[in-house]
Amino acid sequence: MEYEAVIGLETHVQLKTRSKMWCGCANAFGAEPNTNVCPICLGFPGVLPVANEEALRLTILAGLLLNCDIPPSAKFDRKNYFYPDVPKNYQITQYDGPSARRGRVDFEFDGAVRRVRLTRAHLEEDVGKNFHFERNSGVDFNRAGVPLLEIVSEPDITGADMAYEYLTALKDILIHGGVSDCDMEKGMVRCDVNVSVRPKGSAELGAKIEIKNMNSFSGVRRALEYEVPRQIAVLKAGGALSQSTRRWDDAAGVTGEMRSKEHAHDYRYFPEPDLMPFSPTEKWLEAVSARVVELPLARKQRFMRDYQLPAGDAEVFKNEVALGDYFEPLAKKSSNPKAVANWVINNLRAKMSGAAENGTLMTFADLKFQSGAILELIGLIEAKTISSSAAQAVFAETFESGRSPGAIVQERGLAQVSDSAAIEKLCDQVVASHPGPANDFRSGKAAALNFLKGQVMKLSKGKANPAVVGAILEQKLKRP
Ligand code: ADP
Ligand code: MG
Ligand code: ZN
Repeated sequence: MEYEAVIGLETHVQLKTRSKMWCGCANAFGAEPNTNVCPICLGFPGVLPVANEEALRLTILAGLLLNCDIPPSAKFDRKNYFYPDVPKNYQITQYDGPSARRGRVDFEFDGAVRRVRLTRAHLEEDVGKNFHFERNSGVDFNRAGVPLLEIVSEPDITGADMAYEYLTALKDILIHGGVSDCDMEKGMVRCDVNVSVRPKGSAELGAKIEIKNMNSFSGVRRALEYEVPRQIAVLKAGGALSQSTRRWDDAAGVTGEMRSKEHAHDYRYFPEPDLMPFSPTEKWLEAVSARVVELPLARKQRFMRDYQLPAGDAEVFKNEVALGDYFEPLAKKSSNPKAVANWVINNLRAKMSGAAENGTLMTFADLKFQSGAILELIGLIEAKTISSSAAQAVFAETFESGRSPGAIVQERGLAQVSDSAAIEKLCDQVVASHPGPANDFRSGKAAALNFLKGQVMKLSKGKANPAVVGAILEQKLKRP
């Protein structure tokens, strides 16, 4: 029998706020342990939480970007458990009244646009971090109370690579939307992987096995590449799988059981008595809606459609937003958007990253030239005033000095000579001084023409129009 994998992900993302969820402590990574703490995020008795409004906005913004329904009212609950990094002994979360429901993430995978439906997205708070030293342990509460958005997917993912692409697409959306920096190195994105297998085509779900607390997308992929075949092997050997939680050991490349269903937590959820349900007004929602940006995939598709760009170029502008923003107004003014894309991607981008490598960090605001220079350059090539190799040199100078391509061409006398009388004179000179190659060509050695052409170009200091040179030489050397 053939088996298939069924995967659903619960992704936790730290929101991009200045302060924590319920207090004014900084939401910052990398500070000295226990310096961004106060009685509220340390869970002292008698303190009261005050919701961070920007975190509420970012939650709804994420809901809108992920095409979720936004219920008119959301509420907060206590999820009770005892663990050293949870100072209050409960975590405030949204249990049955989340801020966003029923969304989706569309992304490209395996040559098609695929959709993973979202069950919900809810707001909660991060916990502290335990450290285990040689003889003792410590806990850092700087992270306790940092706003955390949990995005729960439907079990629509069918394999390790698709899980990876889904996570990447989700991360791109949240970064572009300004919801989170999603810096993996700083632990801003973590996820729980739920995976089961079932006979191919079966409508029933198999036993759900959850791999907790993954902190890299490649780790998720590796864990699934191990776990799916493991589950299939168990079933094929006549064994049974039961709902359980496992841990991924990245060094060993295996998952191991943490707890079975009998040992599952009972969180004893109940409504948070210190917080009102959150029911945003029309006006508040409108202000959040105004922050919705175009999704990365939609942008790619629009660039392909509106500017007839190949997928590769559109992908670059999808991933490099500032570059795409630079390209678009130019493309709108040009009759040849593909040429604009070529210049922006192959020349401008290369020059800018070259500058960055030499230690000059360049933004688009630092560019010395007017963006119209690129259109001017394309115009000069199309009018055959300069060859495309001359155009590269002109662009390099425009990039360095900010001077316009037209001015540089004029000053350096780079304008291509297409005047056939002038070129004919040069051709005659070259044929006269290289009788050998000229005869070679006459006797059928086609390659000799390139040599002669090169000599004419050299004589013209690169200014002759190469196509015209070729045509004239051929004409002259034609066998009578
Ligand atoms: P819990 O309440 O234990 O967190 P849920 O049913 O809410 O479990 O699902 C949590 C995650 O697990 C969701 O992403 C969901 O899509 C996924 N999931 C649920 N059942 C299965 C299954 N049988 N196989 C794989 N994933 C599943
Ligand atoms: Mg879960
Ligand atoms: Zn605090």
